[in-house]
Amino acid sequence: MPASIIPFSERQSPESISGLLSDQRIKNAFAFIETSAARFTAEHIRICEIPAPPFKEQERARYFASRFAELGLSDLHTDSEGNVIGFFRGQTEDPLLVLSAHLDTVFPEGTNVMVNREGSRLCAPGIADDTAGLGALIGLIQTLNAAQIRTRGTIAFVATVGEEGEGDLRGVRHLFSEGRLAGRVASFISFDGPGVDFITHQALGSRRYRVKLFGPGGHSWGDFGVVNPVHALGRAIAKISDYRAPVDPRTTYNIGRIEGGESVNVIPDSASMDVDLRSASENELSKLEEFMLAAINRAVIDENATRASSGRKLKAEIKIIGNRPSGEVPRDAVIVRTAIEASRALGINPILNRASTDSNIPISLGIPAVTIGVGGISGDSHRLSEWYDPAGREQGYKRALLLALAIVGIN
Ligand SMILES: [Zn+2]
Repeated sequence: MPASIIPFSERQSPESISGLLSDQRIKNAFAFIETSAARFTAEHIRICEIPAPPFKEQERARYFASRFAELGLSDLHTDSEGNVIGFFRGQTEDPLLVLSAHLDTVFPEGTNVMVNREGSRLCAPGIADDTAGLGALIGLIQTLNAAQIRTRGTIAFVATVGEEGEGDLRGVRHLFSEGRLAGRVASFISFDGPGVDFITHQALGSRRYRVKLFGPGGHSWGDFGVVNPVHALGRAIAKISDYRAPVDPRTTYNIGRIEGGESVNVIPDSASMDVDLRSASENELSKLEEFMLAAINRAVIDENATRASSGRKLKAEIKIIGNRPSGEVPRDAVIVRTAIEASRALGINPILNRASTDSNIPISLGIPAVTIGVGGISGDSHRLSEWYDPAGREQGYKRALLLALAIVGIN
């Protein structure tokens, strides 16, 4: 079902930002944030150094379960998908706000995740995406505790699995479909990465494919003339990379991984590629998808025709490995307006944007959701040279706190 036909629902009216700013407990909370840089950075390093490769987030998840317990969250549990959930109970459960960050990184098992310091920079794979968000979850619980803040509604702190790549949002999908929180969440905020510039209220849809071509294989000299899956893959890639993607609505494609072959003098018996297609428009996404499928089909036909004398044909196997829904929370929705107001109160001029994040799922279900950065600066995301600098992190934590408290209310 297209996301756009699911009605968007809101049931709360927020606490005023100016009211919060004049509250002594918020002032205490801000003071705690301002004086806790060393503590937050130490936590940040600790989290980053626990590896969390795709589909293998368990060790980091166990760490979060123990931290949530130490910090006094209640009803702790790790659900069957691997998400770690703990509650900061308010007077009532309504509204129930989820604050989340993702446990997984894009880096495979065995990647060195030890943090190196270069001046004020912390360098390690995953140090910003999403160690920044995970650190903020811990930092905010510590802040709520230190300032002795009690809330009206309840906050569920959730460390999700499977946000990146082939994880395909499996953690947050489970949370909203089968998990104990399904049907109970009033609002959702994902802390993803550093910075304070963006408020993501629109979900970028994407589709991802793994394409595999199979042939008989053979000897490069002795069997020359037989269909070659790598050659066919090359033909397909050349065709796809000629696609003229529109700038508006922004539409992109990427062949991010290719594989195949054993040796220079062996005709390979298989070859594969992973393709990522994205668009702000469902319609453009479908057009691009059709073009890609036709390009693969054409490439196979051409290779088969060129090597027809061998009497052998290539087989193609095309599998969807990712399908993220699109959708958007209206600009005038409470969660978006409050996020803007909280930003401006701290001198931040936010930009509203569209991205593919854990919020895609609640947004596609009509549940108010945004994804925000939690301060600090970073670079080289998804690369081994990824770095993070905590400069300006206090602003991110303060904004996150203000936004969360505006939504659940204080007691
Ligand atoms: Zn991320």
